[in-house]
Amino acid sequence: MTTRCTAARAADRSPCTGPATVTIQDRRGAALTGCELHAAHLVAARPDVQIVALPGAPADTVRVIVAAGAQMRR
Ligand SMILES: [Zn+2]
Repeated sequence: MTTRCTAARAADRSPCTGPATVTIQDRRGAALTGCELHAAHLVAARPDVQIVALPGAPADTVRVIVAAGAQMRR
């Protein structure tokens, strides 16, 4: 199995869509780094997380992930 970002959950078998572009921080301060897909999954499951773009990530990364997460919740 290929290495996946730390935001990918064990129950979710999907591969990463690309390199990790964001840090996802939950209320307890735990930080995960995630690719767009897995970060969006986390946003969908836990709307209270904070997303911060990693250096070098595309400017609209956070917006794209939040929008994708909102779509998954529907
Ligand atoms: Zn991933």
